[in-house]
Amino acid sequence: MTDCLFCKIVSGDVPAEIVREGARVIAFRDINPQAPTHVLVIPREHHPTAAGLAAADPGLLGELVGEAHRVAEDEGIAGTGYRLVFNTGAQAGQTVFHVHAHVLGGRGLNWPPG
Ligand code: 5GP
Repeated sequence: MTDCLFCKIVSGDVPAEIVREGARVIAFRDINPQAPTHVLVIPREHHPTAAGLAAADPGLLGELVGEAHRVAEDEGIAGTGYRLVFNTGAQAGQTVFHVHAHVLGGRGLNWPPG
């Protein structure tokens, strides 16, 4: 999608600090990190939400979750724990409508979230 920020990161038109790159999924650091590790994992293909991706291509959603865990392993937080978040919809705080998993960790995370 031409007006999608994360599609522009996929195409290289917008720079990002990419930490993992696969055939169908990429991971890059959030520009405004909320924890010592804050990485976004996205499919290269444009899907607005996690539920939309689950309906269109459940295998790709599975790849995305697996890649999120590999990010946590790379960051050294897979053992201590990390949070995987899919904000879905404006009220939940979704601002970019290209599905992305937030991988958050490296500090104690409160529950419930704000
Ligand atoms: P959302 O609020 O949609 O769940 O998450 C969008 C995330 O994208 C936010 O955490 C925000 O900081 C991040 N973000 C917004 N613009 C950019 C950008 O240009 N580059 C990177 N790397 N992250 C961005």
